[in-house]
Amino acid sequence: MEEQLRQAQKMEAVGQLAGGVAHDFNNVLTVIAGYANILKMDLTPESVHYGLAEQISAAAERAAQLTRGLLAFSRKQAISPQRCDLGEIVRHVEQFLGRIIGEDIQVKTEILPEPLPVQVDLAQIEQVLVNLAANARDAMPGGGVFTIATGLREGSSYAHGAAAGKHAVIIVADSGEGMDEATSRRIFEPFFTTKEVGKGTGLGMAIVYGIVQQHKGSISVSSTPGQGTVFTIELPLVEGGAALQPVLGQQSVPQTG
Ligand code: ADP
Repeated sequence: MEEQLRQAQKMEAVGQLAGGVAHDFNNVLTVIAGYANILKMDLTPESVHYGLAEQISAAAERAAQLTRGLLAFSRKQAISPQRCDLGEIVRHVEQFLGRIIGEDIQVKTEILPEPLPVQVDLAQIEQVLVNLAANARDAMPGGGVFTIATGLREGSSYAHGAAAGKHAVIIVADSGEGMDEATSRRIFEPFFTTKEVGKGTGLGMAIVYGIVQQHKGSISVSSTPGQGTVFTIELPLVEGGAALQPVLGQQSVPQTG
């Protein structure tokens, strides 16, 4: 409990700092990209300097991608929550998961038959599942099984921030390489990555953490090297009140973070 509180406070502080820096940095990047474009207009595409200006544009775009990730992590994006059935969200994600995860990995879903009403920003919850799926794919280079299951938990949560009461649960599991304890303790830290340069930004899980926190939920991880990883996300269940909004076809497929 204390460890979770400490982690949440640390993420809060890092998030605020990162968000502030990312915002100002974005303005600088716009200037860099703008001037690189002006330079290109005065050059012929065959010239060496045109190639150099192109490299400036490409580097600025890569940096802009990173700052977008940082902004998402620091919860600077407004959320537009609506009441939906968690099971329906998972069914929707399942439809485009193959494009992220590839053909060698079997996708399984286990969805509770009864509706699980949650108040969420659809695009962001789908982003969470997409980021988890992208990591699962990277952890199973030789193929494997990727499972998303939904569940219901009653009673008070063990995790910091989540209030007592019923919670909808999403379990995301892979049969991949797993990770040791030292790694799993750090995965939610921004810029923490074990992947080679250019392959990982270290922001995917930090974004996941930020989104779950923003929804007043909790996330925990359990992993065994050589066997796989299980993420458990809990989101407050909202009972009674307005009808559930349909999920299908509401938004486009999120990019992996
Ligand atoms: P990135 O994927 O860019 O490295 P993330 O924040 O998404 O950044 O993940 C951080 C690190 O957490 C990864 O580099 C990896 O070491 C570890 N990780 C995350 N998910 C998994 C998983 N399903 N299996 C094994 N390791 C994982």
